[in-house]
Amino acid sequence: MKILVAVKRVIDYNVKPRLKADNSDVDLTNLKMAMNPFCEIAVEEAVRLKERGVATELVSVTIGPKAAQEQLRTSLALGIDRAIHIETEEAAQPLDVAKLLKGVVDAEQPQLVILGKQSIDGDNNQTGQMLATLMNVGQGTFASEVAVEGDKVTVTREIDGGLQTVQLNLPAVVTTDLRLNEPRYASLPNIMKAKKKPLETKTPADYGVTLKTYVQQTQVAPPAERQGGVKVDSVATLVDKLKNEAKVI
Ligand code: AMP
Repeated sequence: MKILVAVKRVIDYNVKPRLKADNSDVDLTNLKMAMNPFCEIAVEEAVRLKERGVATELVSVTIGPKAAQEQLRTSLALGIDRAIHIETEEAAQPLDVAKLLKGVVDAEQPQLVILGKQSIDGDNNQTGQMLATLMNVGQGTFASEVAVEGDKVTVTREIDGGLQTVQLNLPAVVTTDLRLNEPRYASLPNIMKAKKKPLETKTPADYGVTLKTYVQQTQVAPPAERQGGVKVDSVATLVDKLKNEAKVI
């Protein structure tokens, strides 16, 4: 069974983003970039499925600038067999990402496509759902457990207030939640070996897609600064402050 994994290059989650002076966007100049954390979980799950003998070939794909090849190389170092880079300097919005992934699916015919549930830059949570729709197949989103048996995949989903288990016919789309697994680190020998693994470069035009702006970002703002805390010396003062200053009781 072949698995396709979609990985996205985003700002490293440890980095505190700065805004451009006009608040039009986040300033990416000289910022550390990394693989989207939910995509790392997707890669890990695919690698585990291969280690368990369920998958035979793993392919990763990214849509992004030339530098996004770094994240594909990371996926190769983590155990993916080959990678496809759809190169574009223009940011692709979820519908176009889904259309491009559908193009890759048509060419590669994977039985399972694993994506992150959400990219931590745009917080869209759209691509997996749109891809499943374009493929006309079932989707198991927010997965915290994935088990493939024969031509079916059972997905435990993290839903509000509990878990839901669904069974999908393959091919299917799965999106990963945080508790699905704990991704491994790439070892130095595997990083070296990854440099020799195949990485194919394509363009959106190869899949008949012209990128469009469906949603215009008009402004970004940082979260409100937290006020400094104070220490109080008695419960009575605490209650007084909660009542009269914070006005929460
Ligand atoms: P989003 O819908 O943007 O929150 O992204 C959800 C998931 O879709 C990500 O975790 C990736 O697996 C995939 N995805 C989104 N954008 C890209 C991209 N430019 N290249 C590859 N995969 C992507």
